Amino acid sequence: MDANETGERCDWTVTGMDCASCAAKITTALNRLPGVADVQVGVISERLTLNLDASRTPREAVEAAVKKLGFGIASKGSPVARKKAFVVPEAENDAGDDHAGHDHGPASAATAAATHSTAPKANAPSDPGHGGPGHSHATDPKDHDKRWFQTSKGKLVIGTGILLAAAWAVKLFGSETLANYAFIAACVIGVAPVAVHAFAALRAGIPFTIEALMSIAAIGALFIGAAEEAALVVFLFAVGEVLEGVAADKARASIRALADLVPKTAIIEQNSTTREVDAATLEIGQRVLVRPGSRIPADGEIAEGTSGVDESPVTGESMPKTKGPGDAVFAGSINAEAVLRITVTKTAEDNTISRIITLVEEAETARAPTERFIDRFSRIYMPAIVGLAVLVAIIPPLTTGADWDTWIYRALALLLIGCPCALVISVPASIASALSSGAKRGILLKGGAVIEAAARTTRVAFDKTGTLTVGRPAVTDVIALGATEAELLAIAAGIETGSSHPLAEAILRRAEEGKVAPLPATGAKALIGKGVEAMVGGVPAWVSSPRYASEMGALDGLGMRRAAEMEEDGKTVVVVFREKLALGLIAMRDEPRADAIEGVRQLKAMGVTSVMLTGDNARTAAAIAGLLGMEHRAELLPEDKVNEIKTMVAVGGVIMVGDGINDAPALAAASVGVAMGSGTDVALETAAAALLRNRVTDVAAMVRLARATMGNIRQNVTISLGLKAVFLVTTILGMTGLWIAILADTGATVLVTLNALRLLRFNPEREG
Ligand code: ADP
Ligand code: MG
Repeated sequence: MDANETGERCDWTVTGMDCASCAAKITTALNRLPGVADVQVGVISERLTLNLDASRTPREAVEAAVKKLGFGIASKGSPVARKKAFVVPEAENDAGDDHAGHDHGPASAATAAATHSTAPKANAPSDPGHGGPGHSHATDPKDHDKRWFQTSKGKLVIGTGILLAAAWAVKLFGSETLANYAFIAACVIGVAPVAVHAFAALRAGIPFTIEALMSIAAIGALFIGAAEEAALVVFLFAVGEVLEGVAADKARASIRALADLVPKTAIIEQNSTTREVDAATLEIGQRVLVRPGSRIPADGEIAEGTSGVDESPVTGESMPKTKGPGDAVFAGSINAEAVLRITVTKTAEDNTISRIITLVEEAETARAPTERFIDRFSRIYMPAIVGLAVLVAIIPPLTTGADWDTWIYRALALLLIGCPCALVISVPASIASALSSGAKRGILLKGGAVIEAAARTTRVAFDKTGTLTVGRPAVTDVIALGATEAELLAIAAGIETGSSHPLAEAILRRAEEGKVAPLPATGAKALIGKGVEAMVGGVPAWVSSPRYASEMGALDGLGMRRAAEMEEDGKTVVVVFREKLALGLIAMRDEPRADAIEGVRQLKAMGVTSVMLTGDNARTAAAIAGLLGMEHRAELLPEDKVNEIKTMVAVGGVIMVGDGINDAPALAAASVGVAMGSGTDVALETAAAALLRNRVTDVAAMVRLARATMGNIRQNVTISLGLKAVFLVTTILGMTGLWIAILADTGATVLVTLNALRLLRFNPEREG
């Protein structure tokens, strides 16, 4: 418990993981270290994060433990305090980089990958103080550029393959005995590195690993004289490992592709000459030149020039936006038309796209309930199969006097059935594909748990203002009662001067257009969900909802009726009043967004009910909800919205869509809180999901993607468990042997991964 609070969140890149059992191994081994808590490992993102109390276990010890298990590990820019990262970006990141610089000696790209399978020497515990095998900084592109046959696993496949072929040649042309020795040699050479890993895991307290099952099965087969099959099994296992690695690399590449959208270099102008620099070294405040047709190298603000900017790489929105001086631009966007000069506002590691990548990567470790269930299941599954194998080996020979060799052979084949690789990769592979598929369209889902919840919910609650409506109401009617129209506007504008509420902005715009100067007001105070109060000309005055005005005794029945009439047209009416005296009514209209009708229609077609939640009055809400074809709940104070959401959560879950800023409590209360809006910091960090394109239709797309993902997961679990069940039976009956058993596992793993990769091409925008 204490480690959770005192520890520092640390971050690494781990290479050499192909399936979730690798992740489980690392998690188990690290959790045993003192001062380590909340270990999270992402196979696809190759991330390891944990809370570390460095006074009890140094970082180096963590790295050594991971290396001992046969994986490559490299620091990911040292202590990261993600939540604070953009409050104090410079200080934090500087410290991080510095640390990485000291700690990590000469980086060697090869070592990180090679450590995994290069047997004893490389895996020997290295004294952390003495540099040990160098490790590379952050994600190493060189590693991933390696072709399969250049990796140590690939070499193992080729090596054991050649040995196997040679042994078969000997069998064909030479003597049986000689061939037998050749098979034994092929098996022993092939199984040695696997056995070393199994042993390392055993010493870390993890007896049941795939490597252990493999080693026992192969060595056991040698003892019962099935050398040829043992060699074949070892070879097929190595092939499977390589295939799994290739599949995992594919999923990784799709996430990494996001990072490639940001140009590597930037052009800086200095004394009328231009100079090309590494985009990663850009500093806040520097001025960069972006020519038409090229990508913007950093998050920044336009200093000079006006041009169409295509932000699709970041937000998924492909309509170019015209941007001019003062407008913010994202790194990775394409400058379509004219030369722009841009002032850098964020460093490379802090820009929007790298934050999106971090979120997608982190999301992989936020595991779905299904995934946790499968992890627990596979933890029982492996020992159970081992137990069953033992029984199969001894019971029939002892009870019926059957042949020992036959039953030991079947038991060994059962051990291979016990490899749960296909099963444990089935969920994370689908989720990783879904996450990157969504990210390409600006649909950010923070993890499997979010996907699972989004797939299940059949109700979506929307905040009205800014989500279903444009969020920019305009004044339509000004009705003066106890003052002239100009006085009315001057007082209202004065009271609203400090407010950022959309209604306040509408009133201020109207006053400005009518050249009415706001009267000075003091002590303005928001009455959340009701209105604003301030002192104007020495007396208190209000702008509020008609309901509040009538409660205060300032609006009579006639005034209420006039307000009601306008509200039935879908307008929002506010009353400007002094103590007991209505000065007038101002009506505003916030148009429904064009995509809202379509979005709500799509949701309905999918069997999802949409509900509008608003603080606005019931008549206005009914008018707009009617236009959009959805249910509504009106006159809600912010706490009523939260209660409304809680009630819906209790009866079966709800997705809440809001702007992520003033709806935060309601978003947090929902099963899935979705922030709509392009890339505001708060929305990105706090909500469970974010829709960067700002389209209501993307809510439907998100649900569609979530459902497709859960469907894909179900297929994967069925494939892997189904194949296991079939081969479990055929193995016990003696119909299939050792090499079929291992082929079934690697085959299922590859099948499941390929099936998951289909999600990368899934288009959630398509209906049906
Ligand atoms: P919504 O749910 O549409 O965002 P709010 O909870 O923000 O609505 O506000 C509810 C009602 O309170 C508004 O319809 C309006 O009548 C009144 N109100 C809130 N803030 C203001 C303001 N700054 N000026 C005038 N009226 C306001
Ligand atoms: Mg609001």
